[in-house]
Amino acid sequence: MDNILRIAVQKSGRLSDESLKLIKECGIKFSNGTGKLKSVATNFPLEFLFLRDDDIPGYVQDGIADIGIVGANEAEEKDKAVDWTQKLGFSKCRLSLAIDKNEPYSGLGDFQGKRLATSYPKILGDFLAANNVEADIHEISGSVEIAPSIGLAYGICDIVSSGSTLMSNGLKEVEVIFRSEAVLIANKQLSDEKRTILKRLLFRIDAVQAARSSKYILLNAPNEAIDKIIDILPGMRSPTVLPLAQENWSSIHSVINEDDFWGVIENLREAGAEGILVVPIEKMIV
Ligand code: ATP
Ligand code: MG
Repeated sequence: MDNILRIAVQKSGRLSDESLKLIKECGIKFSNGTGKLKSVATNFPLEFLFLRDDDIPGYVQDGIADIGIVGANEAEEKDKAVDWTQKLGFSKCRLSLAIDKNEPYSGLGDFQGKRLATSYPKILGDFLAANNVEADIHEISGSVEIAPSIGLAYGICDIVSSGSTLMSNGLKEVEVIFRSEAVLIANKQLSDEKRTILKRLLFRIDAVQAARSSKYILLNAPNEAIDKIIDILPGMRSPTVLPLAQENWSSIHSVINEDDFWGVIENLREAGAEGILVVPIEKMIV
């Protein structure tokens, strides 16, 4: 069926909630009762398949699904022929090498000839080869963190976010080998019709993402400070300046990036801004 795009989403796990939230924020309505494996959106040509994340890259390559949302770690590890269409900014984590916290560590050379347990043999193998380290990669599918303490391996390569799992297993993180976040992958042979639907979806995702990283800012300032304040505000085009009832004062409105946020606020106050309001933006079309 060319008039509907099929998206594969993780059925239940660390990607599921954020994946569905993003699609909902794109204004797409659907039902996803527990245990459901398929669903169709009611107001957009999108059909959902709810799957294990391990299976998503292969299904997208083979065209069972047209697009899918997976962790970059999973997409890279599975190494399927798919397009990496868009980074999605959630489920951020890293793949790291870790060893017993009491072992000394002096550098990657320490892994030479050692045995390493991981669920990511391809990513780890590529990393070690690129760094001229030869190690014995032992693939296990879960509970990788206990491998050193039971004598299965010298070190591990696994997903880390806060590091607390490593710590509770007596391990220390010594090298980050891959940084991951959720990505949208797509089949390489989409029909023109499906590509058109994908473009519409990506346009909406862009608007949602731009809004997430931006804030709308309103402030009051004496007229003599306006030029200085406009220089500080990066803005989408140029800020809106409206006169206040109080003479020689104006209200200035603009959009700022979340990352620059605190620095900009400090500079604005120094320049004479008062009554600064910062509000979230729901959608942003640039
Ligand atoms: P499935 O049953 O679908 O195979 P899973 O157990 O393999 O699920 P999850 O633990 O749900 O996978 O993780 C899915 C993805 O979420 C990972 O591949 C990774 O990209 C990301 N992820 C994993 N752990 C974290 C974390 N602690 N913080 C943020 N993102 C994470
Ligand atoms: Mg999995």
